[in-house]
This record gives sequence, structure tokens and C-alpha cells, in this order.
Amino acid sequence: MLEFDRQHLWHPYTSAVDPLPVYPVVSAAGCRLRLADGRELVDGMASWWCAIHGYNHPDLNDAVTAQLARMAHVMFGGLTHEPAVELARRLLAIVPPGLQRVFFCDSGSVAVEVAIKMALQYWAATGRPGKHRLLTLRGGYHGDTFGAMAVCDPVNGMHERFRGVLPQHLFAPRPCSRFGEPLVSGDMETFETLIRRHAGELAAVVLEPIVQGAGGMWFYSADYLREVAALCRRHDVLLVADEIATGFGRTGRLFACEHAGVAPDILCLGKALTGGYLTLAATLATERIAAGISADGGVLMHGPTFMANPLATAVACRSIDLLLASPWQERVAAIEAGLRAGLEPLAAHPAVAEVRVLGAIGVVETRREVPVAELQRRYVDSGAWIRPFGRLIYLMPPFVIGADDLRLLTRAIGDHLRVLS
Ligand SMILES: *Cc1c(COP(=O)(O)O)cnc(C)c1O
Repeated sequence: MLEFDRQHLWHPYTSAVDPLPVYPVVSAAGCRLRLADGRELVDGMASWWCAIHGYNHPDLNDAVTAQLARMAHVMFGGLTHEPAVELARRLLAIVPPGLQRVFFCDSGSVAVEVAIKMALQYWAATGRPGKHRLLTLRGGYHGDTFGAMAVCDPVNGMHERFRGVLPQHLFAPRPCSRFGEPLVSGDMETFETLIRRHAGELAAVVLEPIVQGAGGMWFYSADYLREVAALCRRHDVLLVADEIATGFGRTGRLFACEHAGVAPDILCLGKALTGGYLTLAATLATERIAAGISADGGVLMHGPTFMANPLATAVACRSIDLLLASPWQERVAAIEAGLRAGLEPLAAHPAVAEVRVLGAIGVVETRREVPVAELQRRYVDSGAWIRPFGRLIYLMPPFVIGADDLRLLTRAIGDHLRVLS
């Protein structure tokens, strides 16, 4: 199997001729992954922010099988169904105020494409077609499709490789003001200049509120986000919040916008939306945006084949119910405390540049790029599933992880730092 995989399958961001090793997994339950050779690993990644309730959860399994017995899928053009309507009802009850309309799509990247399309269509339909550019922050990550790529960090994103193809948007520096601290003087300067100077051609600001994820695992000040929202209002530019990674409790609030009391015009959700069971994302908009898009009699020009898939929307409903019925705030706070206790002492290590912890996210930024394959092999030998990239070793475990398992993860990171010295 591994030989066939190596010769014929692509994994994420992988060379076809010299792929990194992969580990065959045969099952998963709770916070454990079971490998084909019988070893069990404690999961530190929640399968890229998704599996907040852990794996093989009886309630989520039940939601899928119950829906499977009724219908696995049906087109959303001209038809509707209870799981989709119920999910929209649940989302509108918990997202920041003002959002009234829900578009379901397949993946986070597509949710970002739809958000961009909404913003562009809004201005075109309300008589200002010149507002078609985007302003974003360096260090961001918004997905791998072309529209989303164009707002990813221009250096560590994929701009070089697709030069001449991607639309040219505007980039403000990554905020220096740190989470939990007030705005550093001058931090907004470039952003403010850009939005003021380009307001006439700007459709929207697109950003990840509070936590920049795959673009650098960076946490920034709620004051910065608050100021961005105010500037957007003042200059008549829409605010698109990409909460695909931060949504559903990861930062200690249900949505990261809540840290700043900010309500975006458009919101993207994904990843933990289905508790890690099926691929599903959503783009939400205010009534003003929805009405504006159709002001000229037009329609929102998007409609994925698997839009609002019943299995995915059914399991998403159950995942939200499970989350809201659980003591998730205490769980995330306990994880935050465990991450601080386990990771902050590592800041003194010569290979470590900085340790950052926020909610159920722990980051060890190293001074040099990490040797991914070697480090990962050592983590696996220690019983930990951790997937570092670049100069970032990080943890974002399922919310149901216990203190001992969390300690195993932070210890594995500490024990193998010597590889970097
Ligand atoms: C993962 C991610 C995306 C892309 O989601 P996919 O489901 O991988 O397409 C977009 N934005 C953010 C903030 C993400 O973390």
C-alpha cells in the first residue's frame, strides 16, 4: 500500500519524486489515531483544526447514519431539506450580529471564493463596479484556489509561482500589536493609508480575525481588529472575516471576532463546522449585502454540485449541539493552561525563537526551519501526532483531550527540540 501511495498519490504540498513519508492510519477514536502497525498516537492536530470532539464520536456517527438512511445527497437547486435549514438556523443564532444569509459550499477555499464574489457583486450591483480590489494583511492564509490564493501572504503564499495570473490586491503589514495588548503606536499606519487612498477601488478587507493560521500562527491585538472594522465603516469598504480556522471555540470565544466585539459584513466558516466528519463550509452575509447583490435584479453567481450536502449539514447540526451542550469554555481554558505549562518553559531553549499560546492553540516558533520528516518520525516514536511546518511546531488538539495526553504532546515537542540544535 505504501509503495502504491508513494508512486501514485499526491499528499498536500508534496513532491511527486521525493515525497515525505506518510503513516498508514486504520482507525481513530477519541484523541487517538491507530496506525496499521498497532501503535496509537495522541492527536495534537485535530486533523487541521477540525476534529474538536475527537474521532468516532457516537453522537456524530449517529447523525451521519440517521441521515444516510434518509438520503445521502440531493441537489440544492430547486430543492431544500431539513438538515440545511436547521444548520442555517443554528449558525445564525451563534454568529456575530447582523448576519442573516447563509451560503453552503464544499470547502473553506470555496467559502472564501464565494465571499469575494459576494463583495464584488455587491458593489457592481449597487452601481460602483470600480470597487473590485481587496485589502488584506501579510501573513494571512485563505485557501488554495485562485481567488483565495491572491489574498494569502505574498511571500510564503504562492504568488511567485503564479505571477501574472493572480489579481493584484493590496497588502498591509502583519500587525505587530500582540493579542491581549493594546495597539502599538504606528501599527495601523500603512493599513490606514492604503484604505484611505484606495477606498474608491476597494471592495473589501479580507482577514483572519485575531489568529492568522497557516500563514504563520500569529495572534494579534483585538484593538487592531476593532480599528480595522471602524476604518472599513468610515471608508465604505466591506469587512470579510475568515473564521474557517478560528470558528467554534478554538480561541476561547465561539468566534474570534467576539474578542473585539466586531461584526463583519461577510463571514467564512469551515473546518470544525462538521466536527471533522465531512467537508463543508459556509459563507454568511448581512441582509444589506444579500439585498445589494440582487439590487439590479441579478443573482449570486455560485452553486456547487454538492451544495448543502445532507450528510454534512446533518452532522454539522449535531456537532454544534454537542459543542454548545459541552463545557467547551472550561475545556479550552484547561487546554490553554496545559499548553502554557508545557510549552512556555521551552522559550528558553536556544533553538526556540518564541512560544505563543491562545485558547486551544500552542505554537513553538523555532529559529531555523524544522526537518519535518525526522521530527515527525521522532514524535510518532513518542506516541504523538504533530505535523510541524516551516519554523512552526504547533498543537491544536481536540477539545476533549485529557491533561495526561496533552502533557505527552508538549513533552514530545520539548524532548525533540535537541534535533534542532
Ligand atoms: C484551512 C483554511 C482555509 C481553506 O480551507 P479548505 O477547506 O482547506 O479549503 C481558508 N481560510 C483559513 C483561515 C483556513 O485556515
